Amino acid sequence: MTFAATVLTLYPEMFPGPLGTSLAGRALGNAWSLDTRNIRDFATDKHRSVDDTPAGGGAGMVLKPDVLAAALDSVSDGRPMLAMTPRGRPLAQARIRDLAVGPGAIFLCGRFEGLDERIFEARDLEPVSIGDYVLSGGELGAMVILDACVRLLPGVMGAASSGEEESFDEGLLEYPHYTRPVTWEGRTIPEVLRSGDHARIAAWRHEQAIRDTRLRRPDLTLRHGGAKQAPPSGAHDDNEG
Ligand code: SAH
Repeated sequence: MTFAATVLTLYPEMFPGPLGTSLAGRALGNAWSLDTRNIRDFATDKHRSVDDTPAGGGAGMVLKPDVLAAALDSVSDGRPMLAMTPRGRPLAQARIRDLAVGPGAIFLCGRFEGLDERIFEARDLEPVSIGDYVLSGGELGAMVILDACVRLLPGVMGAASSGEEESFDEGLLEYPHYTRPVTWEGRTIPEVLRSGDHARIAAWRHEQAIRDTRLRRPDLTLRHGGAKQAPPSGAHDDNEG
């Protein structure tokens, strides 16, 4: 079974773009398929308009719900429907893993000021964000999510095990990696990694993962208890899955 991706966009020429190269590109047509549809093809007026001015005033244009619904309805088949929006829940690796074992996904890419709010409920869309910054369109976000999913599909990554034990899987960042030369610009690969002692290496890596997560991503440490810290009561909103 292959992972079927459908992307609804005003700029279908952006695809497959970077997804046509390297691992994802080689697997395209085998482990996964990509179908892009131009939202403009679902416009009904003679100007083929897809957007209109925001109700209540303000700058920019909003994508029309009737046009978006027609586009969604033309491809909807039970696959998860993800609407790209900075107002969505930031996507994490756990959701990527869920998606990757499913039948695929339909991505709705916004542009301009975004999507008419009514479409989310009317078509049961999952509002997803790729992070706390604003892009000019949802296409790069959809590509980011697809890249993350496709590399997990069976047969896509060279060594099957390189998809295991990665950053975020235990609520921790991955441990740091090193490769030859052993000494480079006066910096030497940690001795433990050259010891051949697999138990010591595993313990060291786990320690490093905890240390780096504490330093760089205290939010992950808190959320998953990776470093055994009790979350301060009421200090965060744990709405994970
Ligand atoms: N006015 C909106 C931003 C619109 S950006 C706001 O302030 O919330 C235009 C489109 O880019 C959005 O409709 C969405 O599809 C996409 N986009 C922008 N930032 C994104 C993000 N962080 N994650 C996912 N999609 C994003």
